[in-house]
Amino acid sequence: MSSDVRNVIIIGSGPAGHTAAIYAARANLKPLMFEGLARGGIPGGQLMITNDVENYPGFPEKITGPDLMKAFRDQSLVQGVEIVTEDVHKVDLGGRRFAVWAGDDKVEYRARALIVATGAQAKWLGLPSEHALQGKGVSACAVCDGAFFRKKDVIVVGGGDTAMEESSYLSGMCSSVTLVHRRGEFRASKAMQERVLRNEKIKVLYNAVVEEVLDPRLGEVTGARVRNVKTNESTVVPAAGFFVAIGHTPNTDLFAGQLELHDSGYIKTRAGSTYTSVPGVFACGDVQDFTYRQAVTAAGSGCMAALDAERWLVLNDGH
Ligand code: FAD
Repeated sequence: MSSDVRNVIIIGSGPAGHTAAIYAARANLKPLMFEGLARGGIPGGQLMITNDVENYPGFPEKITGPDLMKAFRDQSLVQGVEIVTEDVHKVDLGGRRFAVWAGDDKVEYRARALIVATGAQAKWLGLPSEHALQGKGVSACAVCDGAFFRKKDVIVVGGGDTAMEESSYLSGMCSSVTLVHRRGEFRASKAMQERVLRNEKIKVLYNAVVEEVLDPRLGEVTGARVRNVKTNESTVVPAAGFFVAIGHTPNTDLFAGQLELHDSGYIKTRAGSTYTSVPGVFACGDVQDFTYRQAVTAAGSGCMAALDAERWLVLNDGH
């Protein structure tokens, strides 16, 4: 069964998806949003797994991630956005109308324009203690959470560019940074490595793996038990914050072979816009941004996607 052809379908309900939806609704495009269920995260996106957000403008008293995303969703509903709580399983971007299948796949949803806001997911180590302390001292975002550990000791795990960036950033506000890397040398670019190795506040533990983040029994981070893979010796590194910096996975498997992607899997967009390689398909937020990855930048690019879609429809599809 096919649905009526919509002006715009939006996939994803993080800050990018909701901002695109609010702008599209106000442009009278009557957008339909698939907010997701389990695939690629949860409805509301990455902020649903964080506690305090102190850097989203407009909230001087800070706000929790779930409260912020509830406000985004409420605003979408007030503006008349139709929200479907389903995952999109398949898309066909080859025809004049884009086709989307969600939920039980019985309905083929069709649209003149498509906005992709499926976000990304931080990679985690997969330790039960890490999971238990997420939002209680364990984080995957130094820019987001570093300020909570001002003048405290922190641990960063990783050996690529992300880990170098996060360590350097944290060294600007924390007393010390212990960088734990499982190999004997970093994967990061030479310039970034040198910046870290020159930094007196950053101590590097090579050939080291984290066995447990401490202390789930206390409900807060007090350090980590780290094992040297060469000597098999375990030591406890005391710290108040634990940052996992081993990269992100963009939620783009749906679009492989249909949209141009970077080698890293992020959607390619035309510089200064949200245009993708398929005319009429726009991408916003973390699914196309491997540089800034913040709620406010995701929201900004969601606004851009709605404006790009509206203008594209006027010029190309007789909206
Ligand atoms: P996301 O928030 O990732 O949302 C993507 C949405 O797409 C999700 O709802 C998901 O369910 C949906 N989706 C995915 N696939 C499908 C599908 N197939 N069908 C339907 N829906 C789908 N940023 C800040 O600015 N300040 C902070 O304090 C801050 N703290 C953070 C703390 C943590 C622990 C993390 C992980 C991130 C934090 N960030 C913070 C970063 C911020 O959360 C992201 O930059 C922002 O959420 C990106 O928004 P987005 O809309 O692009 O994607």
